[in-house]
Amino acid sequence: MSLFAKYKFNGGLKLAGHKKISMQEKIADAIIPAQLIVPLQQHIGRAAKPIVNIGDKVLKGQCIACLSDSKNNTVTAAIHAPSSGEVIAIEQHVIPSMLKQTGDCITIKTDGKDTWHNDINPINDPLSLDNDSLKQIILEAGIVGLGGAGFPTHLKLTTKNSNKEKPIDALIINAAECEPYITCDAALIQEQATRIIQGIQFIQHALNIKKCIIGIEDNKPQAIKALELALDDKTKEQIEIIQVPTRYPAGGEKQLIQVLTGKQIPINKLPRDLGMICHNVATTYAVANAILDGIPLIERIVTVTGDNIEHPKNMRVLFGTLMNEVLNSCGYTENNNQDIIMGGPMMGIHLDSANYPVIKTTNCILVKNNKTTTTPLPCIRCGECARVCPANLLPQQLFWYSRSKDYDRLQEHQIFSCIECGCCDYVCPSHIPLVQFYRFAKNEIWTQESDKKISDHARERHEYRQYRLERKKAEDAERKAKKKALLNKKQGIDTSADDAKKSAIEAALQRVKEKQTAVPKNTSNLTAEQQKKIKEVDRRRSDKINPAANNTTTKNTINPKDDNNG
Ligand code: SF4
Ligand code: SF4
Repeated sequence: MSLFAKYKFNGGLKLAGHKKISMQEKIADAIIPAQLIVPLQQHIGRAAKPIVNIGDKVLKGQCIACLSDSKNNTVTAAIHAPSSGEVIAIEQHVIPSMLKQTGDCITIKTDGKDTWHNDINPINDPLSLDNDSLKQIILEAGIVGLGGAGFPTHLKLTTKNSNKEKPIDALIINAAECEPYITCDAALIQEQATRIIQGIQFIQHALNIKKCIIGIEDNKPQAIKALELALDDKTKEQIEIIQVPTRYPAGGEKQLIQVLTGKQIPINKLPRDLGMICHNVATTYAVANAILDGIPLIERIVTVTGDNIEHPKNMRVLFGTLMNEVLNSCGYTENNNQDIIMGGPMMGIHLDSANYPVIKTTNCILVKNNKTTTTPLPCIRCGECARVCPANLLPQQLFWYSRSKDYDRLQEHQIFSCIECGCCDYVCPSHIPLVQFYRFAKNEIWTQESDKKISDHARERHEYRQYRLERKKAEDAERKAKKKALLNKKQGIDTSADDAKKSAIEAALQRVKEKQTAVPKNTSNLTAEQQKKIKEVDRRRSDKINPAANNTTTKNTINPKDDNNG
């Protein structure tokens, strides 16, 4: 039986769900398109590098891009061929992202046979594997967080914790799916609850965690039922299902943890710091597939919904399929006055067309009629944005500082704690696109920091080069001196006489110096002319005794550079 959450988070909004639209049918398989345009960057971290060439034949599930030095602590994810065919291009193509970027993509002309690669290795006894082996399987399967962030999953399986006093002892599974319209997780749970529970067990095993909580919004009764039925007597003891009130953004990581456990993750801290780790429910399904069937991440469930779509539904779509093709297969009618959004209406990415490939983080393709461009008005300081902010920020202040590009103040006001949920945008009576300002500012700060890192790195390299040159010079001098000494020794040249002469001169100089300091001259009652003459005699005598030392003294007293150094 599931339980109900005891806690709640601050702010947030009660939004119309529009979930039923896409839940009328079972999950359908999308067609294999004639071409798959597979981006090399579908995740947070380093882009994968192609390991195939144009003209190569590839099979379904074959790794086509990865980092050759990928270890299970590298922030990257491998990319696999979603179907069999031939690589016909490796070139730039638009990829869905906030920054409207293009990126390198591998284009595969599919052969329609969908032939699997031989190198698919199911694991018979996964619970006998250790943490490192499980992490390596997840890394090689290219699994990333499927909730939208795309963070490589193997990194969230690390048992090491920065907070040594608090070991990771709780696994949180995010099945809240709080954004309106999106139903891909709910549909997956309804159809694959048993596999999801298996994936959860593997993650628990990898992290040696006994306690797991699945957080799910209370507007998904069928999915909740499916999860309850998938638990047996043993798993019931370890896995708890908790229903959370339907309030946006209950699926935000920090908000969900607060609702489920009553613990607030402090600013600049991660759940890990409080001994918790959070995974999306669809990610656990991908983990189970990789371990039990050896299947890498090559497809995902995508909600296709919104206006002008005759058959809205959830579809199993191969990565690299253009959104156009997915929409067309659902009876989509294009018109000029509509928004195409990857994701939900609150946090989704607004695209300028449907000519974008589906990637690992595409949870929804949403079409909304009546594209409106409202002219923003000045901020009236009503404070509505602060009232709804679930991160307890001051959105209007963030707006002012973003607009004036005051990046220091923005960081002081914790701009990086903003989860870009869009609640502030939604309620702003002045229609100010606040989140756009925050995204731009965050990007600027990242760019500046990355530029600074590059210049610091260049300076460090220059300093290190100087140090190496100096060290080499000193080593060369030492080597030369040693060589000379060895040569002298070999030739039988006795340098002891020279050394004795040097010591005698030094001793004589020392004696003179001592005499001069020991017997002060009584010259105070002489005339200036007489004193000048005595000084002249002293100087000449000193020159005679040690001309080099005298020169050094002179040099030392007149060199401004040396004075400065001194
Ligand atoms: S809601 Fe809009 S108008 Fe009101 S304080 Fe916030 S930014 Fe200003
Ligand atoms: S977008 Fe950021 S500032 Fe606005 S309500 Fe959400 S968390 Fe707060």
